Amino acid sequence: MSAELFERYRDEIEDKYREMTPKSRAMLGTAKQYVAGGVTRETCWWKPYPVFVERGEGCYLYDIDGNVFLDHNNCFTAALLGHVHPKVVAAMNEAAPKLLGAGAATESIHQWAKILCDRFQSVDKVRFCCSGTEAVMFTFRAARAYTNKNKIMKQRGSYHGTINEVEPDMPTSSKGLPKNAAADMIYADYTNIEEIEKLVQDNKEDLAAILVNGIWFSKENDYLKFIKELAHENNILLIMDEVMSFRYALGGAQEYFNVMADLTAFGKFIGGGGLAVGAFGGRDDIMSLFSPLEQDEPVHHSGTFSANPVTVAAGIAALNEMTPELIARLNALGGELRTGFKEAFQEMEIQGGVSGESSLTMMRIGAPAIDPRRASAPETHQEIMRLFGLSLLNKTMFTPASGSLWALSEPMTENEIDQTVSAVKETLDELRPLIKEATPELILT
Ligand code: PMP
Repeated sequence: MSAELFERYRDEIEDKYREMTPKSRAMLGTAKQYVAGGVTRETCWWKPYPVFVERGEGCYLYDIDGNVFLDHNNCFTAALLGHVHPKVVAAMNEAAPKLLGAGAATESIHQWAKILCDRFQSVDKVRFCCSGTEAVMFTFRAARAYTNKNKIMKQRGSYHGTINEVEPDMPTSSKGLPKNAAADMIYADYTNIEEIEKLVQDNKEDLAAILVNGIWFSKENDYLKFIKELAHENNILLIMDEVMSFRYALGGAQEYFNVMADLTAFGKFIGGGGLAVGAFGGRDDIMSLFSPLEQDEPVHHSGTFSANPVTVAAGIAALNEMTPELIARLNALGGELRTGFKEAFQEMEIQGGVSGESSLTMMRIGAPAIDPRRASAPETHQEIMRLFGLSLLNKTMFTPASGSLWALSEPMTENEIDQTVSAVKETLDELRPLIKEATPELILT
C-alpha cells in the first residue's frame, strides 16, 4: 500500500516538475555528452534531473525555462549578498581590465587580508587560496608544522570539503579514496564528551589539532568551549572551519559563540559570493611558519590563481557590504524562519528537526539533522525529503539539498520568510498522507 502511495506521489510531483522544466531536461541530454553526468558537481545533481540556471539577481534565480526561484541555497551559502550585487560586479569590472592573474605579488591583497584580521580576533595573519577545501588542507599543514605532530581530530560526518582525509567518515565517502586516507585522522562524536576525552588522552602525543565546523554548534550548548579547553590543556591546536559559519557575525562563529580558534579556514563569501576562494589564518606564531621573512624553510604554500585580482576586488567589495546591521537583520530573519518551520511541523503534527543559527537553517522531516548532508536516516525518510525538496522547487523555492539547508541573503525581507514558511506548510500538508502511511513513526498524534 505504501509503495503504491509513494508511486502516486512520485508521479504527481515529478510530472509537475517535468512540466515546469522541459528545457532543463533537454539540456541535461546535451550536457551529459561532454560533462560526466551532465552536471558540474555531484551536489548540483538531483533526481529526476537538475534545473539549469541561467542567471541570478538579488535573491532570485532564473532558469532556462523562465522559472523564477526564490534562492534559499545561495550558492551553498556563499552568496550572503544575493546574486550579482552591483558593488561586487563594479569592483570586478574595475579590476579585470588591469590584470587577471600574474605570477607576482599584487597590491590589494593586504586590504582584503586586513578586513579578515580586523574582524577575527584570533587571526593575526592570513594567506589566500582557491577553495574552502584547500583552506582546510593548509590549516592541517600549519597545525602539523607548528606542533610537530601528525593527527587531526574531526567530527564524524561533518563536511569540510574534499581532501582525502576529511571524506572517509562522510555519508558521501566513495570509491577512489586512498586506502590510508584515514590513517592520520581521528573521527569523533563531539557531543560525546567521554568519547572525545578518551580519544584525546589516548592520542595527545601525536594529535596536532582538533578541527571544528562552526555550523555544528549552537548557543544552547557548551561543547565548543569544552573542546577548546580540552585541546589547549593537551597542547593541541583548535582549527575552526568558518567556511559556512562566517556569516554568523562579523567575526564568524568564533565571535558568535565567543570561542577563539588557533587557526581558521575561510571560503565562500569572502570572495564575493560566487568566485573560487579560500583563505586560512591564525595566530602570528603559527602563520609566521609560512613567511619567507621569518623562516629559512617556510611551510610550502602555492597556487596559480590564489588571490587573483578579480577575486580580491570582489572579496573586498563584498566584505565591505557585510555590516553589523545586515548581520543582525539576517540573524533575526533566520530566527523567524526557524520558528515558522517549527510551527509548520507542529501544526501538521509531523516530526521534524529544525536547527541552525543566524541566517543558516537546517531542517528535516524525521530525525533532526545537524549536518544537512547526513544520510543516516532510513531510506523512506530520505525519499520523503527528496519529494519535499522537489515539491518546494515546484513552488519556486530553490533548495537543492532536498529542502534541508536554507541560507538567507541580503535582499530577503519578512515577505520572503512568510512566503517560504507558507510553501513549507503547504508542502507538509500535501505530503502528510504519504508520511502517515509510509512512515507512521513520524506522525505526532
Ligand atoms: N568547509 C565547510 C564547512 C564547507 O561547508 C565547505 C563547502 N560547502 C568546505 C569546507 C569546502 O569548500 P569548497 O567547496 O570551497 O572547497
